[in-house]
Amino acid sequence: MSDGIVIIKKGREKPIVQQHPWIFSGAIHEVENDPKAGDIVTVISHQGIFLARGYWNRKSQIQVRILTWTDEEINQAWWKKMITRAIDTRKAHYDLENQSSALRIINAENDFIPGLIVDKYGEWLVLQALTFFIDNHKTMISELLAELMQVRGIYERSDVDVRHKEGLQQVTGMLWGEEAPEQIQIDEDVKIQIDVYDGHKTGFYLDQAQNRKLLTELITDGFSPDQPVSVLNLFSYTGGFGLHALKNESTSIVNVDTSFEALELAEQNVILNDFDVNRAEFIQADVFEYLRDMAEQGKEYDIVVLDPPKFAHNKQQISQAARGYKDINLNAFKVIKSGGYLLTFSCSGAIDADLFQKIVFGAMVDSGRQAQIIKRLSPGIDHPVALTFPEGAYLKGLLLKVY
Ligand code: SAH
Repeated sequence: MSDGIVIIKKGREKPIVQQHPWIFSGAIHEVENDPKAGDIVTVISHQGIFLARGYWNRKSQIQVRILTWTDEEINQAWWKKMITRAIDTRKAHYDLENQSSALRIINAENDFIPGLIVDKYGEWLVLQALTFFIDNHKTMISELLAELMQVRGIYERSDVDVRHKEGLQQVTGMLWGEEAPEQIQIDEDVKIQIDVYDGHKTGFYLDQAQNRKLLTELITDGFSPDQPVSVLNLFSYTGGFGLHALKNESTSIVNVDTSFEALELAEQNVILNDFDVNRAEFIQADVFEYLRDMAEQGKEYDIVVLDPPKFAHNKQQISQAARGYKDINLNAFKVIKSGGYLLTFSCSGAIDADLFQKIVFGAMVDSGRQAQIIKRLSPGIDHPVALTFPEGAYLKGLLLKVY
């Protein structure tokens, strides 16, 4: 049986030639050989010239996700080449043999394997299959990963909403090897317990690792050693930023999140690191309300971390999301001591770094404060962004000094 052929409309080839990995239905002139969801298709121009090879799903808005722009076969050798490439990119910067290191191994479109996420937590991997094609190949991918890396087991966390857009159910379960323990301890300069079964995403927000580490540095360099430093860690999840702050012995930390389970784990993490629990608070609250209350009460902190969930899931939600970001940033500015710092983030792909900076600027003006950008923040090297895929740069942040 021959591969499906996708013929692109005249004048719509440019993004494909420029290596954007997605083809929407509007760019497609005709489809031949009746491909099924998850089948390989060859993409050609209206003149019949080869453009790319990828995988098909009529159900998805993104009907083709491109795997290669070279006329090569998508076979076992291709998979091995691509997965090895992703692993080698990390090898240069991380200790993959370390039994407690944690990092992203495969970052989907950004590692040129659309729809596939693989994260390493110690000796286990967690795989997320976001599309039909990846779902069809997940056993083979797991076997390859186990061959190329030292792992004890691979667990699947394909319980994400986007699977519905592909016509897939949510699934979780072991894919390869030994069953993962209920909690996996990782080392991120501090010890952190990860719940790969029920934690958010694949268990943890690995994309913030280098920014969490930056907090330790900021406290060490920005404050004198015996000066008490108060940190308000908003949207704390399991307290990651807080743990890095607590490494400095005169720091106190307030973690705020709506999730009781996350705060419970946050407290366990403080104990696990032998930090004095009296230096940490765990507050279950809505950050919007909590921050407004703190501002009204005139509370002040040396450092505020603002790491909210995704507010804009698409372009239509941008203006509403912008109001949300403005609200929390405005109140955050109000509760920072003069000379203190704000680490503020957005993980909404629909809001780019320029717009985010404008929103934070508007919040600053309304708060009557003054601020400088000390550093622009992004994920670490384990979350590369394909240069042809600006959508990959979803997480952006600013480290501000506030007066
Ligand atoms: N900073 C964390 C990641 C934060 S993810 C880290 O470094 O690991 C966003 C968190 O916001 C989630 O834990 C979620 O439970 C929480 N959350 C979502 N909406 C919230 C709200 N309105 N108020 C407080 N927490 C909220």
